[in-house]
Amino acid sequence: MIDSFAFETAPGRVVFGRGALSRLPEEVERLRAEHVLVLATAGRAEQCAAAAALLGSRSVGILAEARMHTPVEVTERALVTVAERKVDCLLAVGGGSTVGLDKAIALRTDLPQIVVPTTYAGSEMTDVVGETSGGVKTTKRSPRIRPEVVVYDVDVTLSVPPRTTAASCFNAIAHAVEALYAKDSNPLTSLMAEEGARSLVSALPSIMQDPLDIPARSEALYGAWLCACCLASAGMALHHKLCHTLGGLLGLPHAETHAILLPHALAYNAPAAPRAVDRLSRALGAPDPAVALQDLAGRCGLPMALGELGMRESDLDRAADLGSANAYWNPRPIDKHVLKLLLTRAFRGDRPDRLAN
Ligand code: NAD
Repeated sequence: MIDSFAFETAPGRVVFGRGALSRLPEEVERLRAEHVLVLATAGRAEQCAAAAALLGSRSVGILAEARMHTPVEVTERALVTVAERKVDCLLAVGGGSTVGLDKAIALRTDLPQIVVPTTYAGSEMTDVVGETSGGVKTTKRSPRIRPEVVVYDVDVTLSVPPRTTAASCFNAIAHAVEALYAKDSNPLTSLMAEEGARSLVSALPSIMQDPLDIPARSEALYGAWLCACCLASAGMALHHKLCHTLGGLLGLPHAETHAILLPHALAYNAPAAPRAVDRLSRALGAPDPAVALQDLAGRCGLPMALGELGMRESDLDRAADLGSANAYWNPRPIDKHVLKLLLTRAFRGDRPDRLAN
């Protein structure tokens, strides 16, 4: 029996394939843009120079100032550049941090955006941006935020170090996991989630062995796109809420936080989400997907404990408080006590546990 559902497809154009970057001039032309500002994080300006060079005189330069968790002060400085250079299109080449700056500018200017993702974080498909100000990360949603064009080119992902890749793949898998037990899941998001998780989990060991393995990188990028579509279409729950809280409160690295927390959040929700667990077991080829994910993270050399990311034991109470401050839907009830138990286990790097409540 198929449950009733409503489904909205994400508008926007996706160009996928090896060498797709060379199609940037065409995509800029389609948007009738003349003054394109290329966005990046510090240190990645070189890769962006190649993209800017493809645009010739239509590029008005590179702004390599994006930072994780999208600090509002960075956006405010970028808006000055946008005005000075009469920018009429944004081109983000990078991971979620770069896409965050891109979206934050678009939210305030309604400029069209082309995104070339270099990680697997999935922000490129959504109409959401999480901005940080004064230690609090606030989510904003608007049709202005969703990029008009996404260009997936496996070549730009090859330089991402294996551990960064692994953490980012876990960020993507988390979208699939929460889409599978979302209140508004539907047959299509579930198909995308299962296939997305399968692709990422099967590609990751090959990438860890050889980061230049193009078929595996391509499989991972395809999986990341599917997981990003899940993030764009289905509501997220406990896991994303906790990562968001820890990112804003403590500035913990986004992807690694996902990798550590995901097994714990999944184990907690599993008793209330048997169909999601079945699909994930099939995708991962393992009877207990929470344990399988934690084992995979260990094999990839990822940190296993929030303590390793710089969280302190004294932060647990504040994080549980903030994480339970605003009610949100989750397949299994949550309160501050449960959050503190779960966070404590993740802080210590314990095995995932369904926790009695
Ligand atoms: P990121 O963009 O900071 O990239 C992670 C790391 O990868 C960085 O060290 C970066 O230098 C490196 N990197 C990126 N591209 C590279 C390349 N081509 N070669 C070598 N190294 C490269 O972080 P992320 O994990 O991609 O994204 C995290 C951010 O995205 C967070 O701020 C998070 O909130 C946001 N996010 C938002 C959404 C959304 O829908 N709004 C979804 C997912 C993530």
